[in-house]
Amino acid sequence: MITNVDHIGIAVRSIEEVLPYYEKALGLTCEKIEFVDSQKVKTAFLKVGDLHLELLEATSPESPIAKFIKKNGEGVHHIAFHVDDIHSQLKKASAEGIRLINEVPFEGAKEKLVAFLHPKSTHGVLTEFCSQKD
Ligand code: ZN
Repeated sequence: MITNVDHIGIAVRSIEEVLPYYEKALGLTCEKIEFVDSQKVKTAFLKVGDLHLELLEATSPESPIAKFIKKNGEGVHHIAFHVDDIHSQLKKASAEGIRLINEVPFEGAKEKLVAFLHPKSTHGVLTEFCSQKD
């Protein structure tokens, strides 16, 4: 079951360059900066009420974020739903004919288990499920 929107992922060229916008112009607080090596990204989490903005910066030209920015420029990259059981949520989506990018969840930022649904079968929105590790 989806319990809430956990975060919104935003692709940026440089976290250092965009943080003043989020922190000074918007007044948000950066809670954490973390590298996710498996995705070749640096992430920054900004708290907005109950959810977070996840700024994503590529750490390699091979990173999915580098490819995204090359194609689309900076901007909204994905929406992440927190789910109570990521395995059954993926099974359910797959049974409904949704293409999964990750059949098996992997460890993302903040030690959460994450998996993505392909934007081609989600009407253009790259969709992430995330849950606490079991
Ligand atoms: Zn995310």
